[in-house]
Amino acid sequence: MEVLHCYEFLLMRKLQANLTLWNELKARLLVSSYNSKALLAWLKSRMVASEYEETSDDDPPTYKNICVELWFLAVALEKHPHRLLQFVMHQVQLEKEDNTSVPGQTILARYLSHHNFVEMHLDSIFKYGETATLPPELFKCPNVRVLSLKCNSLDGIPPDVGRMASLERLCLTNNRLQNSSVPFTLTFCRRLAELYLDNNLLDALPGFLLAMPQLRTVHRHGNHNYFKATFMWYHTDVNERVLLVRGDALRRKPPALGSRDPPSLMFLAGQAIVASKWNFFQPGQLPPGVQDYLALIYPSFNVCGHCRSATPLASPGYKVFTFKNPYLGNTCVPFQHWACSARCAREIEVPAHLEQQQAAERMDREYRHYIREFQEETGPAVPSRGVCAVL
Ligand SMILES: [Zn+2]
Repeated sequence: MEVLHCYEFLLMRKLQANLTLWNELKARLLVSSYNSKALLAWLKSRMVASEYEETSDDDPPTYKNICVELWFLAVALEKHPHRLLQFVMHQVQLEKEDNTSVPGQTILARYLSHHNFVEMHLDSIFKYGETATLPPELFKCPNVRVLSLKCNSLDGIPPDVGRMASLERLCLTNNRLQNSSVPFTLTFCRRLAELYLDNNLLDALPGFLLAMPQLRTVHRHGNHNYFKATFMWYHTDVNERVLLVRGDALRRKPPALGSRDPPSLMFLAGQAIVASKWNFFQPGQLPPGVQDYLALIYPSFNVCGHCRSATPLASPGYKVFTFKNPYLGNTCVPFQHWACSARCAREIEVPAHLEQQQAAERMDREYRHYIREFQEETGPAVPSRGVCAVL
């Protein structure tokens, strides 16, 4: 079972950012006659020197003094030196045979496709102040069952997460996710059973989670907006649980849209596919380039929680709050949905509200029944001084 660790990810990203170093590493592999110890010692000294050239004029340290910034190099060489060497050797071999894979493919993508990773533990991979952007190639590993992205200051999850058809556990604890940060494409992960959304900025869970019956666990504690902003809706009627959101006319078009007005035929076709809620990441259904394009334009839309429509972010719509009780072992959990029209908002809210009231009445009945049974078993409660009896 192969596991991708955060230090390997950071090392690949470093080599990717410094292609001179990467090319030197491959050339050195031949010079060192595949002497792994010599090669690794060279990599250490070369990377440390490179880091110091970039950041400081201090005397270059020896390879034994790996600076704190390069902790991942030390750990990667200590834990998995042969995995790195095997990968570099394979790349050298491919180049010899003039058989390098897809042009423009990143080193990280090559590393990921060279192995068969089934778990990715990528917690705290971004430094403080760094832009936290997850590379799309991370999600192109169809056999990954566990993906952990804790403590990464993530503002959003790329729609590419829907490519992970084998995903069973997704850990997003300690990020900066809001309701709109989790894409609808998560519903494409039909095996996802455990979702961890603790310590984010959610005010409710995304409504589409209700359409994922395979979910067994959804952790959501520690979301600061969760109670203060949402539970006030609990006792309100239908009109007050539906919020009109005016379109942000000033919102700039993302680059994927281009400057064409009216939009291109390709863009309109992409919008129709997004609106259909069809899993366009299914292998063999669309060319990879089209899948990449759809992933690129996907964040430009809000997907309606009722009908099959996808409206540009700048268009108005409705936020709808509903409550599910019970939900996966919890008494009552709020959800937030997006609706493209007032009609769709009502179609979401009215049945959910009715179901919530019926569930609350059922729970009250069950509770009263339980109390009665308990009292019959134990006899009438005898109040004692300072203690209130349950009647
Ligand atoms: Zn709609």
